[in-house]
Amino acid sequence: MSTLLVTHSACLDHVVPHGHPERPDRMRAIEQALSPDKFNSLQRIEAPIGSLDHVALCHNEHYVNELHHIAPSEGLVYIDGDTSMSPGTWEAALRCVGGAIAATDAVLGGKASNAFVATRPPGHHAEVGKPMGFCFFDHAAIAARYAQRKHGLGRVAVVDFDVHHGNGTQDIFWSDPTVMYCSTHEMPLFPGTGAASERGEHDTVVNAPLRSGEGGDKFREAFTALILPQLKTFAPELIVVSAGFDAHWRDPLANIQLQESDYTWVTQRLMDLASETAGGRIVSVLEGGYDLQGLKDSVNAHVTALMGA
Ligand code: ZN
Repeated sequence: MSTLLVTHSACLDHVVPHGHPERPDRMRAIEQALSPDKFNSLQRIEAPIGSLDHVALCHNEHYVNELHHIAPSEGLVYIDGDTSMSPGTWEAALRCVGGAIAATDAVLGGKASNAFVATRPPGHHAEVGKPMGFCFFDHAAIAARYAQRKHGLGRVAVVDFDVHHGNGTQDIFWSDPTVMYCSTHEMPLFPGTGAASERGEHDTVVNAPLRSGEGGDKFREAFTALILPQLKTFAPELIVVSAGFDAHWRDPLANIQLQESDYTWVTQRLMDLASETAGGRIVSVLEGGYDLQGLKDSVNAHVTALMGA
């Protein structure tokens, strides 16, 4: 079995205001990153459109209807200071959901060892009833729920190494003892949540905030001392990764100093853990990463590591 890459050109059509960091060029950078011959053995599929039933696994109907209603047929509609919709946004957001669902089906159906879903816009800030911070639908959370509802899994973990805290994912699973949410992120930083004291109703939320300027040493320590031991005890049957690459040292939106080798390291540690408890099954979905060179190098490292399964 090999690693699956899920993507779709419709993700280029979520157009953003000039100068916005979460831009279509991110997709082109990833395409370039994964074009060298060493990636020839990737299985590649196009992300299908996710259904509204999939979206409803984590978002309320009122919100979804409202979002569909305000989607423009031309120009841009601003939702908040960071988040806007263009005519292509609705489909792109549904491709993110469908991509995460297809990856989950492939990995849990034994068709791939693991998968990387390279789609945009990102998802982990989207709340049950609200878009936020470039995000509309929380596709990592949807994949976790779908794995339980469709495939009958008991325990699923979402591991989020994006430099921002995944407030949406934490909120969705706050009271759910069957989903563990673990996050490293810079703090203080947008969105402001993610203190170590935020642990969920059943101690299944594990936040390991990093301080501005910290790098690979502290990042690895957060995983080694806190996140990996708790994951091991929880023993997830699937690991969903919210793979944001904006903790890279080149990234303009934050000040954590990770190198590509740190992404290789964390991917391998999650693969080791998945081998122990989850039959090696990992579904990784793209979140942030806003320096195109940093994004390219980091995705190259992450997917290369996934292919080592
Ligand atoms: Zn981020």
